[in-house]
Amino acid sequence: MITEECISCGACIEVCPVMAIVDDGDNPVGDTYYVKPEKCIECVNHAPKPQCADNCPTEGAIVWDMPYTEAFNDYYVLGHEEGRYQIREHKSKGIMSPAVKAMPYVESLEMSAREAHANVGE
Ligand code: SF4
Ligand code: SF4
Repeated sequence: MITEECISCGACIEVCPVMAIVDDGDNPVGDTYYVKPEKCIECVNHAPKPQCADNCPTEGAIVWDMPYTEAFNDYYVLGHEEGRYQIREHKSKGIMSPAVKAMPYVESLEMSAREAHANVGE
């Protein structure tokens, strides 16, 4: 996820292999760049590390979030309801929460780093 540290330089958006990042003008919930959690694959099978963070010049602008898996469905649905995310709504399936469609994630990362929203670049 992208934090308030983001300086809107634009370096991340072009390197995302799945176009999961939108700029500050298209951020549905804030005024920084934004990662769509329902699209982000954490660059699994695309690159050795998350490309957005690898190209970001700003420490702390891109931090880990929880895996987009069924186990964290409530976390993301609550975040959607409380305005931290705006997850895409499908006409018949409703919001594309992790229970509807889970995404790949970096399994080797310790959960404590995700809970602490640690800097992805570290
Ligand atoms: S981790 Fe990879 S897939 Fe996710 S937003 Fe960054 S560049 Fe895109
Ligand atoms: S590369 Fe980093 S600082 Fe630049 S727009 Fe993306 S998140 Fe913000």
